[in-house]
Amino acid sequence: MNAANESNRKPTVVDALPKAETHLHLEGSVRPDTAIELAKRHEITLKHESVLSRYKYKDFNGFIQTFKWVTSYLQTPDDYALITQKLCEELLAQNVVYAEVTVSAGVMLRKSQNIEANIQAIRAVADSVPFSRLKMVFILDAARQFGHEEALKVALAAGRLQKLGVVAFGMGGDELAFPTEHFRPAFDHARHEGLRIVCHAGEIGAPQLVREAVSILGAERIGHGIAVMHDPALAEWLQTRRIILENCPTSNLCTGALAKQIGKPEATLQDHPLPAFLKRGLLVTLSTDDPALFHTDLLTEYSKAASLGLTNSQLVALAEQSYQSAFLAPEEKQKYVSAFRAAVKSAGLV
Ligand SMILES: [Zn+2]
Repeated sequence: MNAANESNRKPTVVDALPKAETHLHLEGSVRPDTAIELAKRHEITLKHESVLSRYKYKDFNGFIQTFKWVTSYLQTPDDYALITQKLCEELLAQNVVYAEVTVSAGVMLRKSQNIEANIQAIRAVADSVPFSRLKMVFILDAARQFGHEEALKVALAAGRLQKLGVVAFGMGGDELAFPTEHFRPAFDHARHEGLRIVCHAGEIGAPQLVREAVSILGAERIGHGIAVMHDPALAEWLQTRRIILENCPTSNLCTGALAKQIGKPEATLQDHPLPAFLKRGLLVTLSTDDPALFHTDLLTEYSKAASLGLTNSQLVALAEQSYQSAFLAPEEKQKYVSAFRAAVKSAGLV
């Protein structure tokens, strides 16, 4: 758990429940101490303060630059193994028992790394005995700003690596780079291979990009989608199609995405559309996105959702939605949902 957050976080009813997290970037989980350790492996000395100053952003582009900086220290499969171990420890400390972890395969390709060797190292740690209570699967992610040819290479790798627990293909990065249509072949390939589809959209971009991610790329879940707050017709369209919006409130504040969406120099948590989405009946999940880079963790996100006025039963329903929206086979999903409901019952929450 992120000790920095423990002190200023109010506990919620969700804390003790077994949880799922489905929008979480492996590379965004590198805490400052781990960044220092990674740099040391590659003979670079980093100071804690200088890492912390990197972990602050003026805008979305600043965040992308830091993400790039952190990944520059991920040079070998062993480096990926180390950050996976730290992430597994953090997740279990928060009673997260199921995680769909996004891995930036697009960045690995950019650095001419062997994606399969990295995923194997990640898989081995996730499967190791200390973490047997946590099931971890992967979403391979292309970076939009690297273009459609690179995205197709990631989709091809994702298809091949299903044997290692890759369940979905997605796209993140600079949402404003290149028309959505360019990426259709990559997503078509992934779907053809039997992979599930996710896409970041409506984070800093317009509502139209959310519509395109669904209608052109076949996204089943939208990363963020906060732009939907501007377009009631789109909200209804998404609701009919049972598309999930993966909300990550702290992320939207740290990257300036929410401020950009509402056209103000600064945004506060109270500006976040999560409660309005729920009121409208949209399907929403709650996640951390890049917990280390945004100085948060999943318990903190639920605490923030509570401070937005969500009731205990809304928090519990939100936590169950992460399982309901997970890319699990129906029987396995039922198993997780049943265990979750049993925990809710034994905690006296129903
Ligand atoms: Zn994300």
